[in-house]
Formats: sequence, C-alpha cells, structure tokens
Amino acid sequence: MKSRGDEIAVVHARAAVDAATAAGHARLLSLVLPLVGALMLALGWVLSDGPGPHTFDLSFVVGCGLLLLLVAGLFRARLVTYGFASVSGVALTSALMVERILVMFMQGHFDPQQQTLFVPVFAGLPLLYVMTFVLLPPQWAERVAVSLWLLISMLITTLTMPHWHQPEQHAPIVMLLSFVWLGHSTYLVLFSAAWRRQQMLVDRHARLASAERGLLEHVRQSEARFRSLFDLAAVGINVTDAAGRYLMVNERMADMVGYSRDELVGMNFRDLSPPEDGAITARLMDSLADGTAERFRQEKAYLRKDGSRVDVEVFTRELDGGEGQERRFICVALDVSERKRADALAAEHRQIRDFHFENTPLAVVEWDMEMRVRRWSKRAEQVFGWTEAEALGRTGEELRMFPVEEREPRRLRISRLFNGEVDRSTIKIAMLRRGGRSLWAEVHNAVVRRPDGSVQALVSMALDITESEEMLRMLNESEARFRSIFNQAAVGIALLDADGRWLNVNQKLCEITGYSLDELMQVNFQSITHPDDIERDLHMSAAVMDRTIDHYSMEKRYIRKDGSLVWVLLFVRRLDATDDLPARFVSVVEDIDERKAAESRVRALTASLESRVAERTAQLRDIIRAGQRRNEELTLITDMGRLLAAATDMSEATTVVTRYLPRIFPLADGALYLADPAHERFDRKANWGEAKPGALTFERGECWAIRRGETHHVEGEPDALHCAHVHCDSRTHPHLCVPIQSLGAPLGLIELAWGRTSEGWAPEIPLIKTVAEKIGLAFGNLRLREELSRQALLDPLTGLNNRRWLEAALRMRVARHSRSGEGFAVLMIDVDHFKSVNDVYGHEAGDRALQEIGAALLRCVREGEAAARFGGEEFTVVLDTSGKIDAQGAAERMRLAVTAIRVRLKDRDLPPLTVSIGVAMYPGDGDDAQLVVERADEALYEAKRNGRNQVRMAGGDAAAVSGHGAGPTAPVTH
Ligand code: GH3
Ligand code: MG
Ligand code: MG
Repeated sequence: MKSRGDEIAVVHARAAVDAATAAGHARLLSLVLPLVGALMLALGWVLSDGPGPHTFDLSFVVGCGLLLLLVAGLFRARLVTYGFASVSGVALTSALMVERILVMFMQGHFDPQQQTLFVPVFAGLPLLYVMTFVLLPPQWAERVAVSLWLLISMLITTLTMPHWHQPEQHAPIVMLLSFVWLGHSTYLVLFSAAWRRQQMLVDRHARLASAERGLLEHVRQSEARFRSLFDLAAVGINVTDAAGRYLMVNERMADMVGYSRDELVGMNFRDLSPPEDGAITARLMDSLADGTAERFRQEKAYLRKDGSRVDVEVFTRELDGGEGQERRFICVALDVSERKRADALAAEHRQIRDFHFENTPLAVVEWDMEMRVRRWSKRAEQVFGWTEAEALGRTGEELRMFPVEEREPRRLRISRLFNGEVDRSTIKIAMLRRGGRSLWAEVHNAVVRRPDGSVQALVSMALDITESEEMLRMLNESEARFRSIFNQAAVGIALLDADGRWLNVNQKLCEITGYSLDELMQVNFQSITHPDDIERDLHMSAAVMDRTIDHYSMEKRYIRKDGSLVWVLLFVRRLDATDDLPARFVSVVEDIDERKAAESRVRALTASLESRVAERTAQLRDIIRAGQRRNEELTLITDMGRLLAAATDMSEATTVVTRYLPRIFPLADGALYLADPAHERFDRKANWGEAKPGALTFERGECWAIRRGETHHVEGEPDALHCAHVHCDSRTHPHLCVPIQSLGAPLGLIELAWGRTSEGWAPEIPLIKTVAEKIGLAFGNLRLREELSRQALLDPLTGLNNRRWLEAALRMRVARHSRSGEGFAVLMIDVDHFKSVNDVYGHEAGDRALQEIGAALLRCVREGEAAARFGGEEFTVVLDTSGKIDAQGAAERMRLAVTAIRVRLKDRDLPPLTVSIGVAMYPGDGDDAQLVVERADEALYEAKRNGRNQVRMAGGDAAAVSGHGAGPTAPVTH
C-alpha cells in the first residue's frame, strides 16, 4: 500500500523537474536572443550614420514610473494577473512597432522633432522591463537577459531614429524593428509562460505541502486520539505479535490482571490464561494467522497476578500494518465479572421470583396488554380449576372467571391501571371457578411498567377468602352473642387501650361508676381511680403491657360521678396486638363495696378491742413502773438523808443535794437556791436539765413560795402567779417552787420545771415536800452549827475576830512558815486615852468608837490577813509580810486611818482618836508566836511612853519610831 507521504514526494519531484525544464528553456532563450539582438544592433550601426540625437523628457519618465508602481501595486494586490502584464507588454511593443513604422512611412504627418506618440511609448518600454525585472524571481540569467534586451532595443531605436526619414533605409530599419518586436514579444511570451508554469508548480507545491501538513496533523491527531483511547479506554487493550507476546498493553488491561504495564510487555497471553482457555485462544489465534477467520470473540478468564481469576470477553483481530512488517494482533478485553455476577444475581432473582410466583398462597396471573393470560401459577390452577396450558393466551371472559355484573367494573379498573391513574388496586370480589362455582377473592392488581413508562404487564394476585368470609359471618354471629352477654353481665366489663382509655364498657360498669356510657368513654380509668390506688394500678397495668405478667387483680376504689367512693375487685388481662389492632386490656370489675364495708366494720371492732387491751396493758405497766420508781425514789431519798446527816458544812450539803435531786426527779429540770444568813437574798447554787435556768439571785419577796412558805405550782394557765426568778415559759414548761425551811425560816428553794414532752411524769407534791423537809432539816442543823462555831471566834462588839481566833491564826502562820518560809508581822494597837472617852462621852460613845476603829483597821488589811480585837480597846493585826519597812508602812497607814475617823453621837462630835502601834516581825523578832506578840506589846508600851499616836518597831531605836512622836498626847478633856 502506498502512503500519502510517498504520493506527496512524487508530486514534489515532478514539480521540481518541470520547474527546472522551464527555467532551462528561458535561460537558453534569454542568452540566444540577446546574442541575436547584438548582431542586429551591429547591423543597425553599420547601416546608420551613428547615433542620432534623441530627446529624453524627464516628466514622461516620472509619469511612467508612477504608472509602473501602479501596475506593480495592482499586481501585488493580485488585482491584475501576470497574463495582463505580459499582454500589455506585447501590446506596448506592438504599438511601438506600429508607431515607428508609421513615423517612417508617413513623415509628413509627424513632427520628427516632437515625437509625440513615440516618446511615451518608448519610455514605457524600459519601465515594462524594470517591472518584469522586479516581479520575476531573482535569477541572474533572466535579469541579465532582460537588461540586454532593454539595452539592445533602446540602442536600435536610438541609432535608427536618424534614418527613419530616409526611405531607402526603411527596409532594414523595419527588419530591425521587427526583430526587436519579435524578440520582445517572444521573450515576454515564453518567459511569462515559463514563469507562469513555475508559479503554478510553486502553488501546487505549496498546496501539496499544506495538504501534507494537514495529513501529518491528521495522522498525529489520530495517533494521539488512538493513544489516549488506548490509554484511557475502559476496556483492556493489548497488541501481541504472532507468537502471542504482548507488545503493548493499556492501563486498564494492566489493572485487570494486576500486573504493571512494564511487567506485561514481553509476557505471553498463555501466561495469563488458565490452561483450558489458553488452548482455545491459541487455536483461535491460529485461525487468524492462517486467514480462516478475520476476527474472533472468546469468553475466558485471566489469571491475575495475585492468583485470582477475572472473567473477560475478548475480541481479537489482526492489526493492519505496512507491507513487510511483522504481523500483529490487537485484542480488546472486557471485564465481564460484574456482568456475570449481575447475570447470576438476575438469574437468582428470577429464580426467587419464580419461586414466589409458584409458592405464594395467592393465585398469580400475569396478563399481557390485551388482557390475555401470560403466566398462570400453580395456585391459580388450584383456585380457578384451569390448568396453565388451558389458561395461557385466553382472556378472563373466555375463562369465565368473572360474573357478568363484574365485567364492566373490571374493564374500568383495568383501564385506570393501564392509563396510570392508579398503580395498583385491591378489591374484594366474587369470582367464578371452572364449572361456575363461585368464590370470594381478594384481588390485588398491579401494573408492571418498563423503564420508559410503557405497560409491560398486569399482574393479578388473588387470595381465596371464601373460607374467611364464612368465618367472618360466623364470627359476627358469635360476637352478637358475646355482646349480649357483655351487656347483661353481672360484673362490669371493659375494653381499654394501652393508655387506659375505655374502648368499650358494659352497662354494669356504668352502674358501678355512676357514669353514663358516653361520659365514661370521655375519661380514662386513671381519672376515676382513687389517688391512693392509681400508682399500684398503673404499675401493674404497665407490667401487663410489657408482658412481665399476663394479668393481675386488685382491690381498688373508683370515684363515682357523685364523688362517693366504691370499692371494686378488678381483674385485668392483656389482649395481645393483632395485625390490625394494638394491644389492649380487658378489665372485669366486681362491686365489692358491701363486702368492704363489712370488713371495715370488723376491722374497726378488732382495732378497738386491741386498743383497749393495749391501754390496760400500758396502765398495768405504768403502775408497775411507778412502784419501781417509787422504790428507787425512796432509796435515793434515804441515801441523800444519810449523806446530809454526815455533811460537815453547807457546801458539802449543797453538793449532796445537787447530786441527788436530778436523780430523784430525772424527768424534771431544776435549780437549787440557798438563802443568805439573813434569809433575804437567795443565790442559785446549782441547776440541771435543759430548761432555761432561772435568775442567778433573787430577793425574798420575788418568790411566792418563799413568801407564803408553801409550794407554788404554775402549770399552763396564762394568768397564774408567776415568780419573777423563773425564766422558763410556764406554757411549755410547768414549774414548781418548793421552799426549804427550818424552824419557819426559809433556807432555800427547789425549783422544778418539766416540759410537756416529758410524758408520763407529773410532780408528786407530797414526795417533793418530803424531800424539801429532809433537806430543810439538814440545812437547819448545819446553819445552827456554823453559827455557833462562828460566834465562838468573833468579837460581838466590833465583828472582828477574837483573841482565840488570833491565836489559831498565828499558829497557822507559824506552820506555814515552816513549810514555805513566809514570815509575818504582828501589830499591837492601843487606843490612846480611851478611858477619858468613856468618861466624858459615855460607854455607848466608847463602843461606837471601838466599832469604827475596828472597821477602819479591817479596811487597811488585805484579804487573808487578820485583824482581831485583842481585848478592851486593844487590837492586833497580823500582816503577811517579812519586810519591816512594809509592816511599818502598813502600821502607819492604819494610824492615819484611825486619826481620820469622825464619831458623832447624839449631835456631839467626839474628838479625834489616836492609836499607838507596836510592830514585831516573825521570825526576826522571835521564833515563837507568843514571843513576837510580847515583843510587839513591848514596842507598843514604848510608843505610849514616847508620847502616843505613833508606831514603834520592836527592838527599835529612835529611827524605828514613826508617826506623831512629838511627846505625849493629851487626854480628852472638855
Ligand atoms: P493609855 O492607854 O493612853 O495609857 O490611857 P487609857 O485611858 O487608855 O488607859 P487604860 O488602859 O487604863 O484604860 C482602859 C480603859 O478602857 C478602861 C475602860 O474603862 C475602858 N474600856 C475597856 N473595855 C471597854 C469597853 O468594852 N467599852 C468601853 N466603853 N470602855 C472600855
Ligand atoms: Mg488605852
Ligand atoms: Mg489599854
């Protein structure tokens, strides 16, 4: 086969030969003609007398130049062709020729000097050559020829011009001119023809080159298309040689078999084929190779690199190649595993569909567009009695499947299905079996459409419901029977939905609840159930609903319409959900109000009996407890009495009482008050319990019990007489004030309060009084004992301690010194000239003076120190100091304190009193108390002697004297 490229090459070669030939002719001619021209010129030269004058007009040359440019422009713009140019050239030379001949032969008519016609034409000639020179391809030979021709023609014209008027010269001149004309014309014609051919060749060459470019582009594009098609093809493509080796594979092919493209190139198709497929492929390839087949198709499998198989369909043919090229085969492989799977799936679906078709309990009939039977299931044979062979291709009318009255409605249904008004329809109709027996069927019709929407078939599925229709009828009868039982039952029966709404209730339930049927349907069971019973009912019904239990029964109360309560025995069972009905409850309600009332009466009686028994038991227990308690109390009181008898002083006795009272009265809060010796003020010594304690102290008049000498009891009543010292609220805490008395004198008070919450306790006044009396007796004895012992150590006039006490105090200090080394000072104090006070103002004044002095001394001692009346108008003070200076200072302060005393009696002022003081230190002045007293006494006498109203230190010198010290003071005189 010849390629397009070869064709082009041949054309090129031919064009080149043609062009070369034409150029050779022109070149030859252009050399020959100038030579001939030169000969002619020489002849002209010989004939003429030499060159004649010629005129040359520049304006003509310029005009012709413009003309030339115009022609060149027109030519370039392709408005004039080369033919026009050459014809006009020939015409010009012809015109010139004619003009010269006319000039020669008709000289009378021309002015030879003007040469009006000749000059412009003559001027055009060289211009024509110049134009040709410019327009022609730049070949030196042609240019030289043109130039020579121009020169020759100009020279001939110019040289012959002087001889034109000589008739004898006309013949040779005409010859010369003819030669020039012939030369011009021939040259122009031949040259232009050659040029034109060359031009045509060039054009053709250009066209061929362009065609070649187009062809190459076409080839390039188609190759690119092929390559992209090859690379991007969704099918696998491979090219093999005759031996079956892969020369080229595309990406899809590589993907399909799991090798890379590089790996595949060089492999053989047998490497990828299972043995059985490979053998077949080889045989088919042979048939291609020996020309018995042009192409083949094969379904086979490829073995993938990972060992798996891929199903493919391959199309193979020989690839067109150049002559002498090796034979190649192209194979397109289509992955059909998906399709195979889809086919298998479709087959499976078909199988399943056929299975459904044959095994459904429905009689399935498929009708075509003309409503002729296309498929007829086994079940249809059983239901309608026609075999498949009998039914196929026949219409429903032919098979007499429908009663006459059913035909028109059926036709309407089918047309609605076919024209798309409905997609399917379900209808219950009477149909006919073979032989005319009727049956009831529920028929479901549906249209099967193709993807474009056109009807493919109509499928009817008929369920034989003759039996169920019969059952329905029986069911209706039984329901009617059941309904009459339901309505006349002696118990309430109701059907409820899962939310407890009544769906159906009987008359009895209306009677029990007091609602009418309609009213009952408006409410649910929750709203008429007593609130106390709802929770259990809901809980149980939920358990029934979620199938934890099947049923339950309970006693509960309904609230009747009139608001009264009615007790019922409720039995609830679940009705399981069916296809068309949700799960429900059925309740049976029995009115048990009467029974409940009787039960409650029995229960009340039992409860009352039980409570009375319990009451008696409690009373008995209380009595026993009270007896035990009384025993405990008596034991405690006896113990307390013994301890009080053994108490040595009031503080011990108080401790005993505050310990025992809370134990004797454990259910009461309380406090103990003790009176001062004058029985005017009462101080709280102890309190116990949680009640708010009373006042810390109170006056005798603030307590009704003390004032009256009687127990004072306040309990509850708001206007009761309330003691001021009691701080707890009598409304919440009833209380009792019990005086403690001895020989009619109030020694103290017991305050008892008990909260209302202390159940089972009430004060027993006699017991309390007994306790108070016992305490009073003990306190009275102790008070008496204390008074007596106190009086034995006191000076009755001044209230200071007496000498006996002083001796004891000194003994105590001496003993202390032996323990701690602390010393003390003894001050002996004597009133100066006291006898004269008695004498002048009387004994009463003297006693008052002594009392005042005693009080002044007492103010000057610190706590723990002792001031005593030694006897008569002498006092002794013991100071707890070891320092003489301290003792002397204290003595001096006492002296001055006495001096400051003013005694006024019966409107008479006593004169100022003075004292003399002697001071001795223990153990400095003696290691015996008695000795120190004596030393102080000596110092006192020293002071007296020294003038009185002064302080004198024992064993002292003048420096030890302080105070007045200015001689003896004068006795009181008036
Ligand atoms: P001086 O001590 O300065 O030497 O003079 P005096 O007058 O105080 O002397 P004396 O000791 O002799 O007198 C003490 C008097 O004190 C005697 C007595 O009348 C009087 N006297 C003693 N005891 C009491 C008393 O209890 N009451 C009254 N009124 N006078 C008493
Ligand atoms: Mg005296
Ligand atoms: Mg005296």
